Amino acid sequence: MSIFDSYVMALLTVPVAFLRLFLSSGDPRNEMQLGDSGLSARITKCYNLIVAKSSNVHPKDPEFPSCGVDDMTKLTYLHEPGVLQNLKCRYDLNEIYTYTGNILIAVNPFRRLPHLYSNEMMEQYKGGGSGELSPHPFAVADSSYRSMMNEKISQSILVSGESGAGKTESTKSLMCYLAYMGGKASKTEERSVEQKVLESNPVLEAFGNAKTVRNNNSSRFGKFVEIQFDQKGQISGAAIRTYLLERSRVCQVSDPERNYHCFYMLCGAPSEDVEKYKLGNPRTFHYLNQSNYFELDGVDEFKEYLATKSAMDVVGINQAEQDAIFRVVAAILHLGNIEFVQGEESDSSEPKDDKSRFHLKTAAELFKCNVKALEDSLVKRVMVTRGESITKSLDPVTAALSRDALAKIVYSKLFDWLVDKINVSIGQDPGSKMLIGVLDIYGFESFKTNSFEQFCINLTNEKLQQHFNQHVFKMEQEEYKKEEIDWSYIEFIDNQDILDLIEKKPGGIIALLDEACMFPRSTNETFAQKLYQTFKDHKRFSKPKLSRTDFTIYHYAGEVTYQTDLFLDKNKDYVVSEHQVLMHASECSFVSSLFPPPPEETSKSSKFSSIGSAFKQQLQALLETLSATQPHYIRCVKPNNALKPAIFENKNVLQQLRCGGVMEAIRISCAGFPSRKPFREFAVRFSILAPELLPKIKSGSFDEVSASKKILEKSKLKGYQIGKTKVFLRAGQMAELDALRVEVL
Ligand code: ADP
Ligand code: MG
Repeated sequence: MSIFDSYVMALLTVPVAFLRLFLSSGDPRNEMQLGDSGLSARITKCYNLIVAKSSNVHPKDPEFPSCGVDDMTKLTYLHEPGVLQNLKCRYDLNEIYTYTGNILIAVNPFRRLPHLYSNEMMEQYKGGGSGELSPHPFAVADSSYRSMMNEKISQSILVSGESGAGKTESTKSLMCYLAYMGGKASKTEERSVEQKVLESNPVLEAFGNAKTVRNNNSSRFGKFVEIQFDQKGQISGAAIRTYLLERSRVCQVSDPERNYHCFYMLCGAPSEDVEKYKLGNPRTFHYLNQSNYFELDGVDEFKEYLATKSAMDVVGINQAEQDAIFRVVAAILHLGNIEFVQGEESDSSEPKDDKSRFHLKTAAELFKCNVKALEDSLVKRVMVTRGESITKSLDPVTAALSRDALAKIVYSKLFDWLVDKINVSIGQDPGSKMLIGVLDIYGFESFKTNSFEQFCINLTNEKLQQHFNQHVFKMEQEEYKKEEIDWSYIEFIDNQDILDLIEKKPGGIIALLDEACMFPRSTNETFAQKLYQTFKDHKRFSKPKLSRTDFTIYHYAGEVTYQTDLFLDKNKDYVVSEHQVLMHASECSFVSSLFPPPPEETSKSSKFSSIGSAFKQQLQALLETLSATQPHYIRCVKPNNALKPAIFENKNVLQQLRCGGVMEAIRISCAGFPSRKPFREFAVRFSILAPELLPKIKSGSFDEVSASKKILEKSKLKGYQIGKTKVFLRAGQMAELDALRVEVL
């Protein structure tokens, strides 16, 4: 028996004998057991009797239509089970989009629904459409475009959700719509700005996306696309900013994940290209065969390769550049196949065998650099002490790490080059005063092991959450102001204390990490000890009992325990100078340009640059951009982890709604006056509570304001407010009125 369908007789404090119930508890585990099996420690079910705490029981909407409602605010009662049921019943009908006020919730269908995204569909949404249109990203894009044109204010659309929830797909719909609205047919051979913006997707996806456990086409970077418009509302330029590409994937993948798509594409390219780059079966490359996953369902690498190249043509990457790019990609694969063994002297190393020497030679050829210089840069380090330089050999393990470091830095510079190139080719409009920014960025992450990447990602989400809270809060306040009601006592939980813990300077976690990175003798243990000391009384921080190196942060979306093992290494953003010199000396101007000589050093501290601090600054800049815009929110939800259609897992969805701040938005609204009804509707619905009004109400000639006031007086409710057009009720008061109504009936 589903909890939603159960008629139950309950022993409750709610003054209703027979009530259709929703059950929910504060604890998600209990909650979901309810949904799944109906059993939990706190709730016992026997036949048709469920005994539950009254705080876990929520009244069901008496007027809930079988197809759900397209906006959660139309629900009579706003609570978690109601929100969940509405999403589920719409999802079952392939209605994957639903509003919660201004927020669009998108539940991933995991099946193609082409009719939703056709040109005819775009035409319907144009200019707000006529009549009632279903919730849709096109509607969000359209309303952003109209606000921008009418109010001359820049807009932003923030798309968030966990990996595989559908952020990138939603972003693509938004961009298609904006290109449709703001595009102008190009009269010349030159491709239009919007074509370039759209075609930047396949290029960035080839180099920045990979199959992961959570998503077969997972973007491993964050992206903010800023589309600039001229006075007439036509697209006049665009800029793409990317955030924190996952570098470690280049040399480390595990089942059932894959490396970046471009590697497999290149191995499956037309034979002349495969021969040119001395490639072959992806199973023969160490950077790919650490995982047993090579093919993707329904993906033909040959076609993907050609499609990527043609997208590169559109965004202005010429043939010579394309050749250099794929040469570098191939060189990275060969680099990964160089194995090291101990050399003649102890603690030195050399390529293991002829096979390794072949790959070394091939990598050097492809990078167009000297083979001996490449080998030296992998197996030796030059140390400068007291003005003298000493060459030190590396043992085979360290040499392999040096090889991986080179692969990662080359790949990340290649990715940055692509982004820069696309930006130059699209072109910026310095005169544009209006823009629409679309943000597609990783959602909150909490895994079994959480490292520096999760730390940065969760910082991003804390910052966006603060922005979101402040905005939702502001919107609520504005509605109250418009209705001239008293709203001074509404509070919301600010997460500023978590942000201070992480990014305060000096003294926050990032600052302490930077200090640790600059101090040669630091280890992850000394770093962790320093954190424990500094934050021992911080209520958002704790040290897990059985660990000496982990730390826990109580994020707004839940607690996450981070493993500090690789924090120091991952935070250091430097290019080994041997690698820099080697690559800069390449005869290929493309490769050489990826590694410009570093600026003259002035002091030791300026030499150190930290990924954490750079990221923090990038985020700061992003938030500043966003603050100058009017935001719109899309929250993507992944209904199951099997990535299959038609499976809607309550527990999973609820958790995401909580993490995405949807529940918080509802909470903020509940803290005020969540139930609102226009006077007339209110008076008609509750007329029975003031029977003397009935004849007038039935005849239709009555003063709706005074009738509503009369009803409220007789109900003896406290704390409600009378607005200009509506009655504003506190959370739960609508339920009380309904209960009174049932009693009278
Ligand atoms: P995210 O960017 O949030 O990690 P994606 O946008 O890449 O997730 O979506 C993951 C996968 O889910 C897509 O590759 C696609 O198969 C499916 N998907 C997501 N949104 C839709 C949609 N609106 N229609 C059809 N399939 C979708
Ligand atoms: Mg994505």
